[in-house]
Amino acid sequence: MKSEPEKISRRKALVGFIVLPALAGIAADKTDGGKASKAHLAYQSSPHLGQRCANCRVFHAGKTPAAPGTCDLVQGAISPNGWCRVFVARAD
Ligand code: SF4
Repeated sequence: MKSEPEKISRRKALVGFIVLPALAGIAADKTDGGKASKAHLAYQSSPHLGQRCANCRVFHAGKTPAAPGTCDLVQGAISPNGWCRVFVARAD
């Protein structure tokens, strides 16, 4: 049985070697501003199956926890309660 740090390291490696390059490929199909449009990544302003932008690896929070923030991949203001099809859970 693997120790907890080994499990965490494996998860981080998977995100680094598989998920992030996949996101880069999707982001390569980007439009204005170097980011994808909300429509392109099926962004919605509500959570999806318990996933929400506030818990996504590429979300940057606004001034307050409820304020809109920004995203490394999607254009415009992003709701902390939003979601899109390239959601990646934060590792921590
Ligand atoms: S779920 Fe999508 S829109 Fe929300 S922060 Fe993550 S990548 Fe950006």
